[in-house]
Amino acid sequence: MFQYGMIGLGGIAGTGFLIRLLSRLTGDAAPADVFKNDAPTGEVWELWKKRGWVKEASHYLKLDRNVQCKVCPNNCILAPGDRSHCRNKVNQDGTLYTMAYGNPCTFHIDPVEKKPLFHFLPGTKTFSLSTSGCVFRCLNCQNWEISQKKPEETKNPRGPEYRFRPPVPPSITMDELGRLSMFPEDVVSVAAWLECPSISYTYSEPTAYYEYTYDTCKQAREGKIRNIIVTCGSIEERPLRDIGQYVDAAHVDLKGFDESIYQKLNSGKLAPILNTLKVYKSMGVWFEIINLVVPTYTDNLDTIRRMCDWLAKNIGPDQPLHFSRFTPQHKLTHLPLTPIDTLVQARSIARASGLNYVYIGNVLELPDAETTFCPHCKRAIVERDIFAVTKLEIQDGACKFCQTKIPGVWSI
Ligand code: SF4
Repeated sequence: MFQYGMIGLGGIAGTGFLIRLLSRLTGDAAPADVFKNDAPTGEVWELWKKRGWVKEASHYLKLDRNVQCKVCPNNCILAPGDRSHCRNKVNQDGTLYTMAYGNPCTFHIDPVEKKPLFHFLPGTKTFSLSTSGCVFRCLNCQNWEISQKKPEETKNPRGPEYRFRPPVPPSITMDELGRLSMFPEDVVSVAAWLECPSISYTYSEPTAYYEYTYDTCKQAREGKIRNIIVTCGSIEERPLRDIGQYVDAAHVDLKGFDESIYQKLNSGKLAPILNTLKVYKSMGVWFEIINLVVPTYTDNLDTIRRMCDWLAKNIGPDQPLHFSRFTPQHKLTHLPLTPIDTLVQARSIARASGLNYVYIGNVLELPDAETTFCPHCKRAIVERDIFAVTKLEIQDGACKFCQTKIPGVWSI
């Protein structure tokens, strides 16, 4: 993996200031806020290392004793003792470490349709896992109990070590989950043991546990298990291309199409997500796009039209787009559910823009919301009921009725 080298700024006071100045001159955004003096010390840090839950980060710059992470556009600058914006990385004595390594705080077996991915190994299950931490601060986060937590708030380095690998027990206690280690080779062997053809890096944000995801993806590829990244898409191009060579499918949240709303709703930026879509496309990675329609934030139909036109022009008509219904949660409990009519209008706009595969998620009332229609003969070729595939009329990657090729990965 690429490791940034030391750059020659030793002896210059205030390198953080210098970086900010350079950012202004080059037009790059200033680095994100970090947690000052919040890195663990003493016993906790020693125990974390002893467990193997620490690894030197990839893709970072050394700026004398400061460091700058270059994994996501937050570009955190950390002085010794600081913790990153995503909460998972710390500067210890001038070296950047991830604390989210080999220590998932949650894992499950999910249907691949739950990601959602509709054109990737339909009807299969995927071994899904996550650590703490996220690069965003979405007001509507579904998983804020883990995404907005530090590793130390989700894992316990004390007590007997518990390494999770085959043969795996049918259930574990919360205490065992807190102490549990699952290193990349364990994740791959557990997925194989559970007969899951894929591993999903999901729930919080895999970019925030990049090193763990990268190492696991690499081992999974060697073990012929597919890798699925479920992401907000906010990642720098270099680490994206680095990990992209091992990614088989991605679900990318395109949370809106307006920079100011992205900032307000997600504390993120739109431009890097659009770049991620283009990079995945150029690398031939299969991906599907999810757009959550949040009342008063991302439900403007003109903005949705601009987004769909951009996707049709820049990504192409065959990349699936899933509109998803908002349900009140986290800091937006005062908002209503997305009206079904708004979602139906969004779908009409997307189809009018030329997108061939448009879905609506989180709505039980619409019978064809999750159905795949052949764009040529217009017949229903894949039907789904919640997360189950109830009809599959695709053969050798083509519509069974008219033999039109249907984009996606349809068999193992
Ligand atoms: S991955 Fe984490 S540490 Fe790195 S730039 Fe993004 S928020 Fe900062």
